[in-house]
Amino acid sequence: LILMEQEASEVIRHLEKHGYEAYYVGGYVRDKFLNRNIKDIDITTSAYPSIVMDIFSHTVPTGLQHGTVTVIMKNYHFEVTTFRTETEYQDHRHPKEVQFVSKLIDDLERRDFTMNAMAININGTIIDPFGGKKDLNAKILRCVGDPVLRFSEDALRMMRGIRFAAEYDLQVEPKTWNAILLHKESIKHVAMERISAELDRMIEGSNPKKGIELLVASELMNYTKENLQIQKENWLALSDNNVLKAFQHLDEGSLRWFLLLLMLKTETNHIKTLLKKLKFPNYKIMRIHAVKQVKDWLNENQYSERSWKKAVIHYGADAVKDLHTILNTVALDHCDLRLLSFKMNKAEFDQMLQKGLDWIREIPIKQLNELEITGGEIKDLKNKSGPWIRSVLNQLLIEVALNELENKQKDLMNRATQIIRGMNEYE
Ligand code: ATP
Ligand code: MG
Repeated sequence: LILMEQEASEVIRHLEKHGYEAYYVGGYVRDKFLNRNIKDIDITTSAYPSIVMDIFSHTVPTGLQHGTVTVIMKNYHFEVTTFRTETEYQDHRHPKEVQFVSKLIDDLERRDFTMNAMAININGTIIDPFGGKKDLNAKILRCVGDPVLRFSEDALRMMRGIRFAAEYDLQVEPKTWNAILLHKESIKHVAMERISAELDRMIEGSNPKKGIELLVASELMNYTKENLQIQKENWLALSDNNVLKAFQHLDEGSLRWFLLLLMLKTETNHIKTLLKKLKFPNYKIMRIHAVKQVKDWLNENQYSERSWKKAVIHYGADAVKDLHTILNTVALDHCDLRLLSFKMNKAEFDQMLQKGLDWIREIPIKQLNELEITGGEIKDLKNKSGPWIRSVLNQLLIEVALNELENKQKDLMNRATQIIRGMNEYE
């Protein structure tokens, strides 16, 4: 980090040497005040993009239409953006045009929240015309300027505001909050990708409980472009769900989402549709869906050693381990299992917790291709092909997994013959 900051100061010095103003700005300044981890350093300057590209040897024109050039110094990337204002917002999301301006203060004025509208110069002097520092000290989230106007310009700011309030544990200043309530319907102008990016950061952030509470209170999620079809009362029920506090103990974002969907009482067959609407990547959708399937299956088939092991065969060890992680977290926080509709009693719950991982380890093989017998060999027993072969293989796998049958070719053949005889009796 020190190195990155050193390089950033070189960028600023270099711009000043050529006669331009340059400052640290935005999230970096905010996070510096809060002693937060710094991910990246944004720089704002009076130099036009063409000049930035001229005076640095390594640049990428990342967003020329917004005045942004990425300057690369010793492998560090810095976004250098020309002072600008935005005029005439369209469709509650995008400015029609950006205009380069000569004064820093005009650039700071276009920024969303007071804490994001501070700059620091090379000597460490802070330029804070909207009282961002005071607000941060008082833990207040406040729009720069008139909140009603700011949210009507760009509806995404409402989501950003809630995410920031949650992450930094801020109180939303009343006028800012009322403006969100007034403008909540305009969230429909924001692309689902952007909404889910904000949601994701909130859910995976340090205070998802607060974020969800604010989100519920704002009702923003009832007005998104794609209807997520979550019942209003299910959102509202979240507010006093004590499971929310368990979130903090789950490192995995996907599992936080799983828990959230459980609390929202999302049907299994709706999960994929919902997460697709939120533009989740497929691997994440599959993972969340798989844990839900395990849970449903165990609810149907009792929480016993046998069912647990069978679930491993049906849905994979990872999905069952994920469910175990969930149970662990729920247990840590003494959450109410009934709120999550787990159909098990305390004794079963304790047993799953204590033995669940051992049970997964005990399973000798978990996949069909690990059986010491092939589909071809099974086929020869009846001399005809068909889906029956797979069901025999599956049966063998389950029995081996449960340690009821040895994974030896001879044992497997004998057992297969037996199973086929049983099948024939029904034919
Ligand atoms: P983080 O990177 O942690 O999300 P950040 O504040 O750096 O926080 P960025 O999206 O990187 O957020 O934006 C950098 C700066 O640009 C912000 O600090 C803010 O000043 C300004 N900004 C970003 N998005 C908007 C917006 N939608 N409306 C107004 N200003 C914005
Ligand atoms: Mg940033």
